[in-house]
Amino acid sequence: MKAVRLVEAGRPLEMRDVPRPSPGPSDVLVRVRAAGICHSDAHYRAGKSRVHPLPLTLGHEVAGIVEEIGAGVKKFRLGDRVCLHYLATCGECEFCRTNNEQFCPTGAMIGKYRDGGFAEFILMPERSVFELPDGIPFEHGAIMMCSSATSLHALNKARLSSGETVAVFGVGGLGVSAIQLAKALGAREVFAVDINPRKLALAERFDAIPVDASVGNPVARIRELSGGRGVDVALELVGLPVTMRQAVQSLAILGRAALVGLTRETFEIASYSELLNREAEIIGVSDHLASEIPLLLDLARTAKLDLSPDIIRTVPLEVSAVNRALDRLEAFSDDLRVVITP
Ligand SMILES: [Zn+2]
Ligand SMILES: [Zn+2]
Repeated sequence: MKAVRLVEAGRPLEMRDVPRPSPGPSDVLVRVRAAGICHSDAHYRAGKSRVHPLPLTLGHEVAGIVEEIGAGVKKFRLGDRVCLHYLATCGECEFCRTNNEQFCPTGAMIGKYRDGGFAEFILMPERSVFELPDGIPFEHGAIMMCSSATSLHALNKARLSSGETVAVFGVGGLGVSAIQLAKALGAREVFAVDINPRKLALAERFDAIPVDASVGNPVARIRELSGGRGVDVALELVGLPVTMRQAVQSLAILGRAALVGLTRETFEIASYSELLNREAEIIGVSDHLASEIPLLLDLARTAKLDLSPDIIRTVPLEVSAVNRALDRLEAFSDDLRVVITP
């Protein structure tokens, strides 16, 4: 089968002919119908984030059709529409058994530590495969498996409950999903912080209260808009020390700040006034869980999660098209989502 692979970090991806994998007893072989090209893939190609072992087929946002199943597979039949949770896990270790499978010691992310979806077929253990409802296009099913799933996990980690208030720092792909998911989970008010007027307008379209961080301190504005109280949950989706600090500073008493954006830099907080005195919490968020995907798909099916703001362009499974899409992601972070449809 054809596969677009990272052969060496720092070099363009290459098209290779590789053997079509055959399923073990609990595996599902999926014919790829959509594979999203993510900003992370640009980092992987550039060597900013480790991919192992090379050569390896990239692609961690995948939806398709069941082509073949192992003898022990119960949930699926040939021809089923499916999407993939991007972690292949053992299902048996202490982390898998306690629903924290992103820490499974033998767990492997597709397109990073095992072959991903930039190919005609992909192999996945049954437990990481989910039925894609009929009304959801393959392209949406694919891109949901990364940013939307992570936004939902962040809200879950922050223990958002109905009637609470939320501030979302950064209205990119994650943020647009986070706003809608917070509303769907019963958030009373969602503040959306950004500096880009177009993104603030988009946030408003989804019923969020825009907070323009380019014209003043967003923390002061959130306090003002919430009658001095602050928010119960703040999500930091940007990955900058300044927004991490603002997320913590915008918390109400007993508030929780979930940090999602990646940075290697440190940030400072005033421990007494901003954390201890409010019994506030700072929570780290990494990846998402297979158990969160059914709810995510259900919210998309019932239009509570609308992926139409993601402008999707499709490209064929051709190496030049994929490399060009990655070049564009590196050059400027436009909102266009490119999805490979083999
Ligand atoms: Zn991704
Ligand atoms: Zn495990």
